[in-house]
Amino acid sequence: MGKRGSKAPSSVRESGAVRKNWRNRLSIALAFPNSYQVGMSNLGFQTVYHLFNRFGHVVCERVFSPVQGAPESVESKQALNAFDVIAFSLSFENDYPNILSMLHAGGVPLRSDKRDASHPLVIAGGVGCFMNPEPLAIFIDAFILGEAEPVIDQLVENLDLEKPKEQVLADLAANVPGAYVPSFYQPEYKEDGTLLSMNPDPGAPETIERVYLKDVDQAPAVTKIYTEDTTFDNTCLVEVSRGCPHGCRFCTVGYIYRPVRFRSEKVLLDCLDQGLEHTKKIGLMGAAVSDLPCLDELCRRGEATEAILSFSSFRANNMSEDLVKSLARGKVKTATLAPEAGSQRMRDVIKKHITEQDILDAAQILVEAGIPNLKLYFMVGLPTETKEDVEEIVALTKRIKHRFLKASQPIGRIGTIHISLNSFVPKPFTPFQWAPMDDLKTLKQKIKQVKNGLARVANVTVAADVPRWAFIQALIARGDRRVGEILELAHKNNGNWPQTLKQTPVNPDFYVTRQRSPEEVFPWDFIDNRTRKQFLLNEYNRALALD
Ligand code: SF4
Repeated sequence: MGKRGSKAPSSVRESGAVRKNWRNRLSIALAFPNSYQVGMSNLGFQTVYHLFNRFGHVVCERVFSPVQGAPESVESKQALNAFDVIAFSLSFENDYPNILSMLHAGGVPLRSDKRDASHPLVIAGGVGCFMNPEPLAIFIDAFILGEAEPVIDQLVENLDLEKPKEQVLADLAANVPGAYVPSFYQPEYKEDGTLLSMNPDPGAPETIERVYLKDVDQAPAVTKIYTEDTTFDNTCLVEVSRGCPHGCRFCTVGYIYRPVRFRSEKVLLDCLDQGLEHTKKIGLMGAAVSDLPCLDELCRRGEATEAILSFSSFRANNMSEDLVKSLARGKVKTATLAPEAGSQRMRDVIKKHITEQDILDAAQILVEAGIPNLKLYFMVGLPTETKEDVEEIVALTKRIKHRFLKASQPIGRIGTIHISLNSFVPKPFTPFQWAPMDDLKTLKQKIKQVKNGLARVANVTVAADVPRWAFIQALIARGDRRVGEILELAHKNNGNWPQTLKQTPVNPDFYVTRQRSPEEVFPWDFIDNRTRKQFLLNEYNRALALD
């Protein structure tokens, strides 16, 4: 894995990128398996890019999934196979097929055991990895399970690519907290196809602790590359928190970022000031923005500096006056609320902890503040869901609309309520990891029920996800190493999933629609995520008891 030459940097419509000469440097392709626009909207991706480039002997360049042709780096147009290391940043399961296309088009053999010292080392990190890395285990040489900041120094120190690949992997496993080298673990299956155990090679630990940044103030996360080509056009994103204290039973964020951490007022005000040097638009990011202890102070600083604040999320039952004023001042056109379910019973099952009154009041407050449109997130296919629960999505939407109209009348303008309907996908490390996902036919019926129920309601639109994509997401999210073979077949079939699901000898329903027994060993059980499995099981049983 020797060093390779560089080409002249190319110009792109962005500012803040790092461009270095490649000579005698360790070259790292930070790869995002989706478009430039999606990748550059991801603050974690930007943060890791700058963390790698802090090292004088490292040159890190960004590579995105191309629309067509071979992927090349933004900074110097290098091909993937020109790099010493390819580091994938993984957030979303449905992007995983793009990893294979990128490697293939980039001239890199797909399987880890087909690559030698003449090929780049392929590593991966990001939330997708620390939920369940196993479907990618045959392709990735080493994963980092957890947050990057606390381990990036040790990671870079141990990337001595003059050594044989096996030795580099052994060094990573031995010296980098959270490093997981799949080739050091052999899964063993029972006759019924479930996992019996994950057997580590001698010297490899049985469990791997997810690493996390203990003091988030030590590493503020704020936009450094500004570009118009993101979801957040020329906005400075500031991460205010990690994790979420609410622990809704379907949601990974409430479980896999524990403990919940908020950045301090001082650090966040500094970030805001840094952002204001570039733009008036500041996006506060985090799963629990409305729980941030210093949110009102940030809103007031925003007002004093004429910043336009936006918020990645807020809860219907926790909207302070300052937050609503900030939204209104920012001339926000659409506010988003996430009731998730229509009936109170269903919201109790998922532990959403908001009442219908909270939702109706929030809708009214937002409209009265001058925000004309509402977007409401709902799910179908939740555990124990009945036809009546689905009908309640329709009924609740109508009640919200009634309140919405009354609040809109004095303003003399009636906006639109957009319903976003998603199929529930059971995820690892949540209390619903044992639950079956609804089959495609049932999901389609439920979506149709909601669409028909709201078809003649003026000012309400319904957009539903495609259940087949949710099915594939579930397959990958809860898959084991054998699902890697399905990914490989899908790649050979040029992304034709219907054909792939028909051809594969591995039964996809085994992963997607099967109820797991309480004793089942999961492919991700070897990760110590600081949440006891028994606690999750108790939570699952509590949810089922509300049936
Ligand atoms: S759904 Fe929202 S409130 Fe609930 S745990 Fe997830 S991020 Fe937190």
